[in-house]
Amino acid sequence: MTGPDLAAYDRILIAFSGGKDSLACLLHLLALGVDPARIELHHHDVDGDAPFMDWPCTLGYCRAVAAQFGLPLYRSWREGGFLGEMDRDGTPTGAVLFERPDGRLGRSGGEGPPGVRGRFPQVSADLRVRWCSGVLKIDVMAALIRGQDRFLDGRTLVVTGERAEESPGRARYAVFEAHRTATAGGRRPPRRVDHWRPIHAWDEGRVWAVIARSGLVPHPAYRLGWGRLSCRCCIFGSPHQWATVRALFPAVFARIAAREAASGFTLHRAASVIDLADRGRPYAAALAQPELAAQAEAADWTGPIVRRPWTLPAGAFGEAAGPV
Ligand code: SF4
Repeated sequence: MTGPDLAAYDRILIAFSGGKDSLACLLHLLALGVDPARIELHHHDVDGDAPFMDWPCTLGYCRAVAAQFGLPLYRSWREGGFLGEMDRDGTPTGAVLFERPDGRLGRSGGEGPPGVRGRFPQVSADLRVRWCSGVLKIDVMAALIRGQDRFLDGRTLVVTGERAEESPGRARYAVFEAHRTATAGGRRPPRRVDHWRPIHAWDEGRVWAVIARSGLVPHPAYRLGWGRLSCRCCIFGSPHQWATVRALFPAVFARIAAREAASGFTLHRAASVIDLADRGRPYAAALAQPELAAQAEAADWTGPIVRRPWTLPAGAFGEAAGPV
């Protein structure tokens, strides 16, 4: 398909992780002539206010990209973040908190049934057991849409950057469909929300080519050697990634290893993060750039966000470890 009629939407929400695919979605929409006044970037902050799994620089990086284009970026997160959900012990999943255009913080949910987790999400394509993607990202976008009556007015398009090339599971995703928050109406007005995956058919080369033309500086993870922007301690991490985390961010690595030891459950079914790191070698680009590792650890983005001449980051076309 060529894509939906973009002029028919009052607003277009981009799920903006700061990764190359979300950058490509934004650049593609702008290239198609979408009025920036109708674009909103939404960043789902995996850790919320409890730093644990993700790159500390990611939110600051996303805000810098948004500022570069003069676009609003709304942060949303699950109360307690990844750690809060993992430590649930007889309590409900946390509420979703979300920034709103009027500057106030919205809140939705948090009154579900009590439950117990006590372990990391499982490394699986099945989102019922790989709970992080659903609880901390997909459900967060749905909650912020359901939690704001402005989405009952007019039409909304949600844009996400999954690509078929990434995994057989993602290859089966529809390019265009009704969003999970869409309703037919009844006692309330219908919520007219569609979901488009505009770069589903793109290969990685096309993604990097679009970013190269823009001059946008890729997220530090790519420049340190990661092929995809996942959480820094993503459950899908490869041996080389765990070896790199251990070499560059030893305190973070030790925290994950300690959680594995205390719970008796390893993140991977058959190997601890220590076993995985022992099997890998730190990325050479990471070892060679301590100042970049420091930038990745910083919450504030202070570097340039556009740089020319643009250079392909070390991780491009490399390991594709990440959510499937
Ligand atoms: S990037 Fe990895 S750890 Fe983070 S939410 Fe996605 S699957 Fe889970």
